Amino acid sequence: MEERFDCIIVGAGPSGTTAALRLAREGLNVAVFERGKPGAKNMFGGVLYSTILDKLIPGFWKEAPVERHVIRKRFSLLSSDSEAAFDLCFNAFDRPPFNNSFTVLRARFDRWYSEKAEEAGAVIVTGANVEDFIVEDGAIRGVKAGMEGGLVRADCVICAEGVNSLLAEKAGLKKKPAPESMTLGVKEIISLPKETIEDRFSLEDGQGAAFDFFGAALGGAVGSGFIYTNRDTLSVGIGCPISVLKEKGLRPNDLIEGFKAHPSVGRYLRGGKMEEFSAHMIPEGGYRAIPGLVRDGLMLVGDSAGLLNPSIFREGTNLAMASGLFAAETVIEARKKGDFSAKTLGDYVERLKGSFVIKDLKRYRGVPTAITSIPGLFGEEPEAILDFLKGHFTVSEKSKDEIHSELKKAFRDRVSMKRLFLELYRASKILR
Ligand SMILES: Cc1cc2nc3c(=O)[nH]c(=O)nc-3n(C[C@H](O)[C@H](O)[C@H](O)COP(=O)(O)OP(=O)(O)OC[C@H]3O[C@@H](n4cnc5c(N)ncnc54)[C@H](O)[C@@H]3O)c2cc1C
Repeated sequence: MEERFDCIIVGAGPSGTTAALRLAREGLNVAVFERGKPGAKNMFGGVLYSTILDKLIPGFWKEAPVERHVIRKRFSLLSSDSEAAFDLCFNAFDRPPFNNSFTVLRARFDRWYSEKAEEAGAVIVTGANVEDFIVEDGAIRGVKAGMEGGLVRADCVICAEGVNSLLAEKAGLKKKPAPESMTLGVKEIISLPKETIEDRFSLEDGQGAAFDFFGAALGGAVGSGFIYTNRDTLSVGIGCPISVLKEKGLRPNDLIEGFKAHPSVGRYLRGGKMEEFSAHMIPEGGYRAIPGLVRDGLMLVGDSAGLLNPSIFREGTNLAMASGLFAAETVIEARKKGDFSAKTLGDYVERLKGSFVIKDLKRYRGVPTAITSIPGLFGEEPEAILDFLKGHFTVSEKSKDEIHSELKKAFRDRVSMKRLFLELYRASKILR
């Protein structure tokens, strides 16, 4: 390994690899330090949003290990035994560029993507856990990795270490995250024959579906569940804020088991075999939880910078890739000036601000607090709403007027209309 690089990147996830690819293509001497093998232990829900990737590698899906392109999106409100769903199918997304929304498995995708950066000239150092930075005159000038020859210098470092950002904390850019700003994601990969998946989700070859479940998906706790279709597996998981897990003493394992046992969820999984189980934090603090992003010689990107849209769009991968790209472009400019000070690297923040990344995070800045302030929408209210709808469609010998007045009274006895409207108003901020 060379002793000095133009730039060192910590972490070979979507943000780090994007930065590496861009810098290597520009002819910079760049190294990525990855503690494992790219993708080996990485997990996410399953939908890769790829507008940035498509710019960097046009038509990437022809060669990348994508599972399916998403044409169906479904949003469900669950009560304990019923479901009301909003089911969308866009046939236009069945043609390139497929809405830039693909299901992928990170173990395969991250490996492929880091090979692309390597082909472009980046050095990928695997099994290299970065433990600290080299600091010279207050500026970050390299990394200390826990391996022989692990002290390596560079003009600057891009920290793409993901959500558990111990290095960003060491660099003084970030404090320990508050439990309210972290969600725990738990996911299973469940295998099923390809044809069964296509039958159950009304798909044809290559088409994919992303189903999100709200309301009582977690048996009354604040949080949600998902099923995303891969080629011959399903990604099935839940997300629950850490503050809720702690406060209610909930066990993530029980939550995912409860979710899978719901009749409207279980019907998609029947006969499937669990292949993998994993858990990972999601930085859902949004705009208000964004830490300091630069200091002399250092930039934070992706999840380590808290760049994840916590609204209904649930985008993380595209924000990670965009931030990696902006950080790389900032390094290219800084190198021309020969100046890697926080002032020059501050251009990275300006690029983020001028893009969808910060604009969207700012727009949805109220979401993290809104989610925990609408507990009724995860418990009693979906029960009452779905009971109302069930009653509405239950055939009996009563007149429709009689049925309606009984249902309305029963609904009002269970749910405060004032609270419901307030919660729906707050929820609309998440949904829009
Ligand atoms: C349950 C769950 C569901 C999600 N669903 C979606 C979804 O469907 N769509 C979406 O767009 N986003 C989703 N996300 C968010 C998305 O996964 C992240 O936003 C994205 O992966 C961030 O990329 P990153 O490169 O910043 O970090 P990561 O992908 O976390 O990569 C960080 C890399 O750094 C390495 N690393 C960490 N520390 C060190 C160190 N000290 N030394 C060396 N290497 C290190 C890690 O091994 C890893 O490879 C989900 C996340 C979770 C947890």
